[in-house]
Amino acid sequence: MEIAPGVYDVAPPKRGYLKAGFSKAVIVDDGDGLIVIDTLYDADAGDILDEIKRIGKTPADIKHIVLTHAHRGHLGGLATLKRLSGAPTYAHPWEADIISGDRGRQEPSFFVLTPIQTYPIIFFGRLTAAFTKHEPLAVDHMIGDGDKIGPLQVVHTPGHTPGHLVLYWPERRVLITGDAFVTWPMHCYGWPNSMLNHKQSWESLIKMAELDAEVLSPGHGDSIRQNGAAVLRNMVARGKR
Ligand SMILES: [Zn+2]
Ligand SMILES: [Zn+2]
Repeated sequence: MEIAPGVYDVAPPKRGYLKAGFSKAVIVDDGDGLIVIDTLYDADAGDILDEIKRIGKTPADIKHIVLTHAHRGHLGGLATLKRLSGAPTYAHPWEADIISGDRGRQEPSFFVLTPIQTYPIIFFGRLTAAFTKHEPLAVDHMIGDGDKIGPLQVVHTPGHTPGHLVLYWPERRVLITGDAFVTWPMHCYGWPNSMLNHKQSWESLIKMAELDAEVLSPGHGDSIRQNGAAVLRNMVARGKR
């Protein structure tokens, strides 16, 4: 679904709940090829490939594959997309050795319940982690604050995970927020029960609110198509939770 000129959201059409809570991927078409941000849960990347076909492109058009962070619901299709496109992959160094399978993910506290809608997914995810591993892949390029990929600025937004990144396209005023800001099951600066560092998450919200975004495309939930920066600034004004 096109949420801004050249920016397409990809969400699993069904059965998305237990696949990491309806995680979302984004395809950016800057006129010079495609940038895929996050890769959903399924190993075949089927929903992303369907969207690429729908917009009249092929996997060979993919020029870059970027991961916001190394959680299962964002990693699933990575190896398949890499095989089909040969495109270079990018992530923050803290996330890269989880993606390559050299280190397990760090788990958040069991004792934070909210939002309750996501608790069963996280609980179930931990129980089945050994059997639902993603296909490991070495990341080609380590990136961080201030880097650019095509027209997208990389912004380091730790908290949900230490190496979490968001991507900002200044000319189109689109901010791809990964799990640093989500709209499902509620608007929040990351699900409290899957946050590794609450203080950093708050600081990352402030950092995102300083950008002049019109459109917000979160890692979970529907995109906000208008006045995105105001949504983030209102959240900052309400104070830390
Ligand atoms: Zn996550
Ligand atoms: Zn997520």
